[in-house]
Amino acid sequence: KARKRFGQNFLHDFFVIDRIVSSIAPKPGQHVVEIGPGQGAITAPLLKALDGVLEVVELDRDLIPILRTQFVNYPGLTIHEADALTFDYRSLATDNRQLRMVGNLPYNISTPLMFHLLENSDLIFDMHFMLQKEVVQRLCAAPGENAYGRLGIMMQYRCETRYMFTVPPEAFTPSPKVESAIVRLTPRKTIPYPAKDFEMFARVVKAAFAQRRKTIKNNLQELIDVQGLVDLGIKPSHRAETLSIETFVRIANHISQ
Ligand code: SAM
Repeated sequence: KARKRFGQNFLHDFFVIDRIVSSIAPKPGQHVVEIGPGQGAITAPLLKALDGVLEVVELDRDLIPILRTQFVNYPGLTIHEADALTFDYRSLATDNRQLRMVGNLPYNISTPLMFHLLENSDLIFDMHFMLQKEVVQRLCAAPGENAYGRLGIMMQYRCETRYMFTVPPEAFTPSPKVESAIVRLTPRKTIPYPAKDFEMFARVVKAAFAQRRKTIKNNLQELIDVQGLVDLGIKPSHRAETLSIETFVRIANHISQ
């Protein structure tokens, strides 16, 4: 039985499961880690594609014996009974293969987990996650789009983000109330517009979107004056949702000079 507390919606649609696995395109020898395997909907095809070698992290202790029984013929499957939010991913990187993260995540942990993983982004080759569709739209939004905001900027600063495809509620048991989507996040090898002080960049982005209807002049008045914006060639009457990530970095770098 699915447990609400653990955000459990199990995938049953084989077409969707196939599409997820083809998007990931796992190859034998790659170091893949699945978060929240549940009853193994994605785990089974991943194991097949990876010649039986896979690591999974599952918090619900009642699912552990079910997974062990289901995959008894896969000695290469390592099951970590742990909370993905506090799990030490560095402990898995025992060779120089980067991790490929995969998961149909409980929606309440998805944002903190993505940021936790990005703190170890040197360890990670890419991540494929099923999230609420609106969250994927925000992660992938470009300046000027409705969904563009703090979440997308903070993620796109460090990752390339890609909207893969939409998944309808009927693909799950029980069906969630909202549509889902698969996102691919690929940590950048080099940051194109690096902030001198990452904390200041984060502060500027947070402040710029504090009040959506206000201009950047108003939202940033505690951090930079109008002349500062003009010096950077930024129109003080613009709204934050029109500005590129590079522009936020330039504002932050100007302040932290
Ligand atoms: N992957 C399965 C599927 O697609 O059918 C299950 C998906 S279900 C939405 C989310 C899974 O994550 C559940 O198995 C749940 O128990 C597990 N989970 C919830 N919170 C977790 C956490 N903090 N760490 C690890 N797993 C968690």
